[in-house]
Amino acid sequence: MLFVPACLWAQDRPLTALPYTPSLEPAFLDRSADPCVDFYQFTCGNWNRLNPIPADQPRWDVYSKLQTDNLRYLWGILDEASKPSPDRTPQQQKIGDFFAACMDEAAVEKAGAAPLKARLDEIAALKRVSDIPALLGRLHLESSNDSAVFGFDSSQDFADSNSIIAFAYAGGLGLPDRDYYVKADAKSQETRARYLDHVAAMFQLLGDSPATAGAEARTVMAIETALAQASLTRVDKRDPYKLFHKYPRARLDALTPSFGWAAYFNAIGLAAPAEVNVTEPEFFQEVERQLKSRGIKDWKTYLRWHLAHGQSAYLSSAFVNASFEFYSKYLRGVTEQQPRWKRCVRYVDRDLGEALGQVFAAKTFTADTKARALEMTKEIEKAMEADLRQLPWMGEATRQQALLKLHAIVNKIGYPDKWRDYSSLRIARDDFLGDVDRAVVFESKRELAKIGKPVDRSEWQMTPPTVNAYYDPQMNDINFPAGVLQPPLFDPQMDAAPNYGNTGATIGHELTHGFDDQGRQFDAHGNLKDWWTEKDAAEFVKRAACVSNQYSQYTVVDDIKINGKLTLGEDVADLGGTMLAYMAWKDATSGQELKPIGGFTPEQRFFIGMAQWACGFERPENKRLNAITNEHSPDEYRINGVVSNLPEFRQAFSCHPGQPMVREQACRVW
Ligand SMILES: [Zn+2]
Repeated sequence: MLFVPACLWAQDRPLTALPYTPSLEPAFLDRSADPCVDFYQFTCGNWNRLNPIPADQPRWDVYSKLQTDNLRYLWGILDEASKPSPDRTPQQQKIGDFFAACMDEAAVEKAGAAPLKARLDEIAALKRVSDIPALLGRLHLESSNDSAVFGFDSSQDFADSNSIIAFAYAGGLGLPDRDYYVKADAKSQETRARYLDHVAAMFQLLGDSPATAGAEARTVMAIETALAQASLTRVDKRDPYKLFHKYPRARLDALTPSFGWAAYFNAIGLAAPAEVNVTEPEFFQEVERQLKSRGIKDWKTYLRWHLAHGQSAYLSSAFVNASFEFYSKYLRGVTEQQPRWKRCVRYVDRDLGEALGQVFAAKTFTADTKARALEMTKEIEKAMEADLRQLPWMGEATRQQALLKLHAIVNKIGYPDKWRDYSSLRIARDDFLGDVDRAVVFESKRELAKIGKPVDRSEWQMTPPTVNAYYDPQMNDINFPAGVLQPPLFDPQMDAAPNYGNTGATIGHELTHGFDDQGRQFDAHGNLKDWWTEKDAAEFVKRAACVSNQYSQYTVVDDIKINGKLTLGEDVADLGGTMLAYMAWKDATSGQELKPIGGFTPEQRFFIGMAQWACGFERPENKRLNAITNEHSPDEYRINGVVSNLPEFRQAFSCHPGQPMVREQACRVW
């Protein structure tokens, strides 16, 4: 691993303008590498040399670097907004005072664990297991990153995307995945031992003796292990049918007779819903078994841990550091804590994201960029339509349905048309944990209030500065925040080739999610409904299996291979997205005489642009974690895995059969 010299951190100050990096940078190429042997090394080898991984990052790549630039730019906005002035707008007051409260480290330090006292007292006052639901409801409302016992919120009904219903999810774990609790290998055992130490350390911070804390950690582990064993794997959870069990109220009560749902609904301020989608009934059966078999003492222990765990980030450094040691250092290999400004900017982005994002979008995202991005999106959609019309393996009936779905996709570019109203949320300059609590409760209630109301299709799940994009199968929309539509990803100064290779392929990627192993099960209206003929579905599954077999051969780290069933949707989207972008680029530039630039043909520039979004590093510990939890393959395979399937790439770089970037049995879905 490379080290960042301390002098680089002298740059750690707010940005007033975003730096420019072109979407194709020849300086990032490793010209000593053969593109037909390892295209990722060829396109990114020098980026990786020029951009050592910062000590506070688990991975460092073009996306995370841009995200960090955005955070630094937002820091400037917040710094300004945090200066008390009568001229501040109500929005500036909220984002500025939230940031100021977070940055007041001395006050946070002085408070220690005191902000937890009221809730800890409530836990201590629990008398019997039947008292749990009311308290759990309050804890759920106040926690954004932990779901003790289970999770509860609202979502679109799988069967009717126009209606919002209540969802009860599996949850209750402190480790990042159920696999950590059930796997028997040496590394998993080591992780569990380290986790026990961490949980015990947190109990000690709450004032317990080492012996008591050790015993308490074992109780937590026993409850969480039982819940983990009853939880679905991530691969199972890719199947929406396995997560769809609409229970009328009486059936919910019968599922967990020891849990008083009436008290829980009362605590979260929800009029008892007529039905609840219980995503994993077997998990809730286990919750019932645990409630029935364990005394209140065990539950108090379990709830104290989850309270401290969920709130640790907002407490004094003793709590912050303990969490860092386990979750960032041990599990992800990060060597240094993120500076406080960075964490504070992230909390404002999470809790007041559309107030902060509105300023970000106004300053960085022009109407011209929006128009260009929309135009490119339409080009990619046109390419997908042409592709669907001539797809040899798809029958006519399915093809018509697929076209219907494609035409129904809504393109959301940059930022929401309608901004969230935070006026009822009180933010105080001298009360950081209070601000977080109120903001999280505001968001929880906003989500719960949707139940029974019409769907707001204008809503976004990402804030404008986010460097990412998504497809939502129930909304049937694709969403590109302003943060992902800037150089070096989307670069209006560049020729079309690298832009189509980069952002074009991302647009194609999101579009094909509507038709991947998961997305294809939803129709044009976002309803879970099978619109495929049996024969066409079998043809799809066969082609998708080619991709999942291909990726399952790749090594992530040590002896760990990619779980090709977990990454299937993303891998198919990477392959299809690149194909569609290539077709769209050819179409958009047909009739133009494209010349080589910088010694590369237009086709080569397309593929270099396509690969340079993915330049980066990842720490081995983080790779290990992502192998279990991340649906995306490691960056190098997201490039080499794709190009090695494409005859267009082979041709562009004159690669020969037998070379690593030419797969003998190439996969092709779209
Ligand atoms: Zn994706």
